[in-house]
Amino acid sequence: MKFIPNLLIILLLSLFGSASALAAKLAIVIDDFGYRQHNEEQIIALSPNITIAVLPHSPNATKIATLAHSRGNDVIIHLPMAPLGKQPLEVNTLFPSMDEQQISKIITGAVSRVPYAVGVNNHMGSLMTGDAIGMQRVMKILANYPFFFLDSKTIGRTQVKQAAKIYNIPVITRDIFLDDQQIDSAIARQFDLAVNLARKNGMAIAIGHPHPQTVNVLKSKLATLPADIQLVKARHLAFSATQPSSIDHPSSAPLPNHPLPVHQQPVESKVTLEIIFEKYRQRWQQVIAIYQGEVQKPEAPKSKAHK
Ligand SMILES: [Zn+2]
Repeated sequence: MKFIPNLLIILLLSLFGSASALAAKLAIVIDDFGYRQHNEEQIIALSPNITIAVLPHSPNATKIATLAHSRGNDVIIHLPMAPLGKQPLEVNTLFPSMDEQQISKIITGAVSRVPYAVGVNNHMGSLMTGDAIGMQRVMKILANYPFFFLDSKTIGRTQVKQAAKIYNIPVITRDIFLDDQQIDSAIARQFDLAVNLARKNGMAIAIGHPHPQTVNVLKSKLATLPADIQLVKARHLAFSATQPSSIDHPSSAPLPNHPLPVHQQPVESKVTLEIIFEKYRQRWQQVIAIYQGEVQKPEAPKSKAHK
């Protein structure tokens, strides 16, 4: 009766495998990197699945992007865009009045200052992202790169999705800001909101900043992340999932066919019930075959998949 423990192990493995496939996906992006090295290094140390958004003209832009990349974190360009208000602006903030040439020059400069970038999100931008023509100019230039765009959604009537669609750039939208209030309990509440939203919609995207309070809360929340929640890179959501339309403008458009180098192609695909049932069917056939002694227990793959 030796097969019984084997059978149990295989069934348990099946259940665990499916649980991670079914887990709700949570992406955490931390903005404004490049100014506060100590806090930023703490955030990078928390998890390689946290996405790091670097301000191109910050003093440490290239250094922190390189460090984040070396630790396995995805880096995105935190592209400064004009706000409606009178906040102090970053160097080379994009304005709707800029022509294509000016925008191209700024984006090219940002790409060279933030190495290893796989995407872009907007810093501020309540004026710029609300401007259809301005955003079309931005997307036209960004289409030269294998980037996705994360709309930080600093204004309700954002034009990001519509402009990106013209150039087949994958877009995802921020659901929750973690640290509008820099108080541990408030940040913890926002984190829990993001978790609940992920459970409801299958995915959620939260944006925070390298404040000490945010570091504290992330440290404890990520150490005790519920088993049904999987922390993922924002890129994986951009290239593999269709974000629920309840959050933003409805879009039933198919995923954009955006050219990507092989190493950046999506590693996750949308999980459907059919895929799960098929996986179970195949696993069950293996179990029966092992029990009947027809085949050896399948070996683990010899080499790891490309990352
Ligand atoms: Zn910002």
